[in-house]
Amino acid sequence: MKALFLEQVGSLSLREVDTPVPGDDELLVRVEACGICGTDRHLFLGEFPARPPVTPGHEFVGIVEAIGRQVSGFAVGMRVTGDPNIACGLCPQCQRGRVNLCQNLTAIGIHRNGGFAEFLTLPQKQAFALPLELDPLHGAFCEPLACCLHGVDLAAIVPGSSVIVLGGGVIGMLVVQLARLAGATRIVLVTRNQNKRSLAETLGATGSIDPTVSDYIERITAPDGLVPGGADVVFECAGVRETVEQAPQLTTQIQLY
Ligand SMILES: [Zn+2]
Ligand SMILES: [Zn+2]
Repeated sequence: MKALFLEQVGSLSLREVDTPVPGDDELLVRVEACGICGTDRHLFLGEFPARPPVTPGHEFVGIVEAIGRQVSGFAVGMRVTGDPNIACGLCPQCQRGRVNLCQNLTAIGIHRNGGFAEFLTLPQKQAFALPLELDPLHGAFCEPLACCLHGVDLAAIVPGSSVIVLGGGVIGMLVVQLARLAGATRIVLVTRNQNKRSLAETLGATGSIDPTVSDYIERITAPDGLVPGGADVVFECAGVRETVEQAPQLTTQIQLY
């Protein structure tokens, strides 16, 4: 099969390799689609540690081609996606339920081969069945969507909430739509990219603004601004220092005394 390998930092190559054989508790998945995440860029640039040579790609969807002897609940021909983060379940963090902090975390597409290949092996406990009628390109959004859903759940948006989203990438766009579905009535996307601002407004944002305009924070929070007084919830979806620093300034400032 063909597979893309991160050979080392800054070096990718497409190689012809043997199709992997699933272990007893694994599925062999024929990849239909795989998203490119900001994480993949970080791995390529050496900004996140990986375990090369490794096939990146953790936002995959595909069809089960074969199953290991101990697999149950999955069958050949099913469409699946996977949770790429394999927690050990045994370390102190896992035992407290904080599996994202697992001390022995192995991630698909980082420490073991991922979806930028014709096939990958997927542990059954990481697999989720998807409907066959689902467009695989949409199925590839499961992993980023799950991340956004968790963030939106933690933010406890209620009908009528005001929300500001900093960053117009995939994560920002998904958060705009989830905030709308959660009942937020004012949703403002902040991004430099004009196309992303227009797209956000067709997806549910009630407004958008370019952060490079002068006094952009004031233009949002002023009495006649996009979200007068600031928002109930601000999502930082750009992952850069500037937006982390701006986020608190965009939230509602309550004077208690
Ligand atoms: Zn990702
Ligand atoms: Zn663990």
